[in-house]
Amino acid sequence: MAQLILKPGRERSLQRRHPWLFEGAVERLEGRARSGDTVEVVAADGGPLGKAAWSPISRIRARMWSFNPSEIIDDAFFKRRVAAALARRAALPGLAGQQGLRLIHAESDGLPGVICDRYGDTLVLAFSSAGAEKWRGAITAALQKATGCVRIYERSDADLRTLEGLATRCGWLQGAATNEPLVFDEHGISMEVDVVAGHKTGFYLDQRDNRLLTRELASGRRVLNCFCYTGGFSLQALAGGATRVLSLDSSGPALETARRNLILNPKLNAELAEWREADVFDELRALRAAGEKFDLIVLDPPKFAPSPAHAEKASRAYKDINLNAFKLLTPGGLLMTYSCSGGIGIELFQKIVAGAALDAGVDARIVRRLTASADHPVLLDFPEGEYLKGLVCTVG
Ligand code: SAH
Repeated sequence: MAQLILKPGRERSLQRRHPWLFEGAVERLEGRARSGDTVEVVAADGGPLGKAAWSPISRIRARMWSFNPSEIIDDAFFKRRVAAALARRAALPGLAGQQGLRLIHAESDGLPGVICDRYGDTLVLAFSSAGAEKWRGAITAALQKATGCVRIYERSDADLRTLEGLATRCGWLQGAATNEPLVFDEHGISMEVDVVAGHKTGFYLDQRDNRLLTRELASGRRVLNCFCYTGGFSLQALAGGATRVLSLDSSGPALETARRNLILNPKLNAELAEWREADVFDELRALRAAGEKFDLIVLDPPKFAPSPAHAEKASRAYKDINLNAFKLLTPGGLLMTYSCSGGIGIELFQKIVAGAALDAGVDARIVRRLTASADHPVLLDFPEGEYLKGLVCTVG
C-alpha cells in the first residue's frame, strides 16, 4: 500500500480528527496509488496517522477513512460504518420510525463522499469522492443488506464529482423504475418524491423538523412560503391550521408536484392554498405594492453562497428577501428564515437578518435557532459539515 507522507506540522488537523488532507499538506506519495485507492497516511516524523482514500486531482488530496492506522479498509469496514450510522439514528427517538431519513451523512458518519437517503422502501445513493466511488459496490451492498430496501437509485450527479475527476452516474442499481410515483410520509403528511429528476436526492430531508415547527406555529395565521419546492412547509402549515397559505417558487415542475402533494392529503383544506410560479425577489415587492400582509413567512432559499468567496453577493440577496419579508409581516408576525450556504456562517447570517430588520424599520427578536434534523449530524471537528441554519424571529 502506498504511503502518503505529510509535511512537518501538517498532522495536527488529523490529530484533531479532521478528515480532509489538502494538497498543500502533502510532502510526497511513496509507492503507486490510483484514484480512490487506500493509502497509509504518515506524519513527517514517520508516525502513522491512519488510512485515507487518495484523490490525485482534487485539492482535497485525500479523505480519511480511519484514524486507526491498523484498521483494514475492506468490505467489512464499510459494513461496520453503515451499521454504526444506522445505530446512531435508531437510538434517537425523533428519527426512529421516520419513512424519509438520511441514513449516511458523508464525513459526519465516517464515510466521506457518501450520501444515502431513504424514502420508504427506496434508497437513494450519491457518491461524490474518489474513495466513495472506488467502494460504491461494497457500500451499496452493506446498505442494502442492513436496510432490506429493494429499490436503490444512484444519484451521483453532484458538481463535486468533477473536482474529483469523476463523471456523472445516475440510474437504478436495484429494482426498476415504475410508473407509480414514490410517496412517503413526513410527520403525517404524504409527499411525492422524484428521485430521478428532483433536487438533491429528490427532497430536502434536512428541513423535516423545521417543517414540523411551522405546523406548530401556523394556527390561525396567514402564511407565505417562499421557495416552496414541492410544498413541504406549505402542507405542514395547512395541517397546523393556517387560514391561508400562499406558496412561491420559480420551478413549474416543483409546483406541479406540490399541487399533487396537496391532493395526496385530502384531509387538508385545499381551498386555503395558492401556488404561484414567480421569482421570489420580484414577487415580494409585488406583494408589498399590492398591500398584502402575512402573519408567518418562511424563507428557505437555495444555496446563494456555496463557498466564502460568494459571501458578499449572497449577503445582498439574503438581505433583500429578508427585508421585504419583514415589511410584509403584521405586528406579532413570525419570520422563519434560513440559509443553507456553507459560505455564510451563523454569525454573518444573523448580521444580515439584523440589517434587514433595521432597514425594514421593524423591531425583531430571535425566539428560536434552527439547524438541520438529527439525521444530518455534524462531526464536532468538521465544521464544514454544518450548512443549514435558521432563525425564527418575532416582529413588533
Ligand atoms: N423549502 C423547500 C426547499 C427549498 S429549495 C422544502 O422544504 O422542500 C429552494 C427552492 O427555491 C427550489 O425549489 C427552487 O426552484 C427555488 N428557487 C430558486 N431560486 C428562486 C427564485 N429566485 N425565486 C423563486 N424560487 C426560486
